[in-house]
Amino acid sequence: MSSDPATDLPFFYGSISRSDAEQHLKLGGMADGLFLLRQCIRSLGGYVLSVVWNLEFNHYSIEKQLNGTYCIAGGRPHCGPAELCEYYSKDADGLVCNLRKPCLRPADTAIQASTFDNMKDGMLREYVRQTWNLEGDAMEQAIVSQASQLEKLIATTAHEKMPWFHGKIPRHEGERRLYAGVQPDGKFLVREKDETGSFALSVMYGKTPYHYRIEQDKSGKYSMPEGTKFDTLWQLVEYLRMKPDGMVTVLREACVHGTSAEKRTPVLPAVRRHGNGYTPPPAALLRPGVTKLPETDDSDNNPYHNPNEVRKFTIQRSQLMIDEVELGSGNFGCVKRGVLQTDKGQIDVAIKVLKNENEKLVRDEMMREAEIMYQLDNIYIVRMLGLCSGEHLMLVMEMAAAGPLHKFLSSNKETVSVENIVNLMHQVSMGMKYLEEKNFVHRDLAARNVLLVNQNFAKISDFGLSKALGADDNYYKARTGGKWPLKWYAPECLNYHKFSSKSDVWSFGVTMWEAFSYGGKPYKKMKGAEVTSFIESGKRMDCPAACPEPMYTVMSECWIYKHEERPDFKKVEASMRSYNSSISTQTSPEGAAAAAKPVK
Ligand code: AMP
Repeated sequence: MSSDPATDLPFFYGSISRSDAEQHLKLGGMADGLFLLRQCIRSLGGYVLSVVWNLEFNHYSIEKQLNGTYCIAGGRPHCGPAELCEYYSKDADGLVCNLRKPCLRPADTAIQASTFDNMKDGMLREYVRQTWNLEGDAMEQAIVSQASQLEKLIATTAHEKMPWFHGKIPRHEGERRLYAGVQPDGKFLVREKDETGSFALSVMYGKTPYHYRIEQDKSGKYSMPEGTKFDTLWQLVEYLRMKPDGMVTVLREACVHGTSAEKRTPVLPAVRRHGNGYTPPPAALLRPGVTKLPETDDSDNNPYHNPNEVRKFTIQRSQLMIDEVELGSGNFGCVKRGVLQTDKGQIDVAIKVLKNENEKLVRDEMMREAEIMYQLDNIYIVRMLGLCSGEHLMLVMEMAAAGPLHKFLSSNKETVSVENIVNLMHQVSMGMKYLEEKNFVHRDLAARNVLLVNQNFAKISDFGLSKALGADDNYYKARTGGKWPLKWYAPECLNYHKFSSKSDVWSFGVTMWEAFSYGGKPYKKMKGAEVTSFIESGKRMDCPAACPEPMYTVMSECWIYKHEERPDFKKVEASMRSYNSSISTQTSPEGAAAAAKPVK
């Protein structure tokens, strides 16, 4: 398991608050250039560098980039936190001063682990065991090969395991639980508000429960209204334990889920206070001729994080062994099996080989696909490992050995249960929710483009038609039609050439239909034009024989004619998650049998 790369640094304190950092620096003497490093509690894998200058504190946030490098917003990338600190010890390069003296962690002070650090390993194993159905060596291998993405995925759902998380309960039940037992100021719980995955924080103060809405922005970050934004819900809670951020009090004791709660009548009205209690740090001194690097207020999105940044990653031909076995073929040429040699060992890869390099159009298309894929980092999306120009231009991807979903299902009808398909389609919805958050449209979501790593692990692939939308755009307008997968396209794509995450939702519905009909062909033998009039007349495909009713409901919602009324992936994913967990937690024999019903 990957451990924190800063662990060995004697000036690294782990997950401590800004004020604790300042306290350590004070005790360290407040000399100019005295510095320490701590874990960033907002962004996963990031740090904060705290530096003294002129008796003032300056805090710089260091973010981990998609390509694994670290940098301060606007600064140079470095391969690790140690290298970054060494660099700034020689040259201030935008900081208030260079790093002159490390503020060493006292011998009796251990690196402060965050709540998540303590739970991470167990949660990773539990996830791999439950979701991908792996044990022993296969589990260890899966954990190693997917480590960083898996950690991210786990981090975003870690709140479900926290003692303060009470799941979907109404406000009055939250109040009842807070009133049970002693009621110290700051006693709190988090509850889920509705199907769309929004949350509320209920906290006790002066024997009164206060309720705060937790907001989630389009990119999935959590915050209090107008407050600091965080990658995950538990990071927000950790932060609110240190700073009230506009609330009546900081969070203190968790109201623990699952302990017996005595019945009390909820009485007092809820009050909410607006505003952000944050005070910005003192302005740093700017040296002439140097671009000042932005300090962190531990609050905003780091401006450095540029979603359009493309990782340039070249693979040397000598690192690649290409098998003659063809995995499939597509627009560009064939996809071959191979092995990539990395510093960490060999990995199985799939290699897309460009057939005719002289055709500029095809080459450009493949480069565009590579650029899109390189910006994506999600466990349910096929990861691109790099580009190699050898005898041909080659796009190297992680291997999804069990192949396309529709083929797998049609040849394994006897062994794949409906429950298994629900789990796979939930994974696809998670990958699509990620794309939606990142403002990418896939434009070719179909069962043929969902590849399986194994029977329980799906990844979205084929980004040949995909587009990154501009920050202010909701859709992509195709100038010309093309070889389009018409049966998977929403009416607005066909009528107005408008593509958005909502049109991907339509395609997700068709993909669900393919999956629940075990690789069946949508709209049977109908031609494209016939499908269009079928849809325009208000008709939709029937529920596949094996498909559970709630899954057909989701599918039907994906096919709502007007995209404004269609659910987004946030909603679709929440519905898939809810159904998936309802069938996987059913313990009654009838329930399990119904959920795992083999087909036909
Ligand atoms: P594409 O050109 O992306 O549609 O790929 C054509 C075919 O190659 C797919 O239908 C798969 O059978 C195979 N393929 C593509 N990418 C991979 C991958 N990462 N792992 C395994 N097989 C793949």
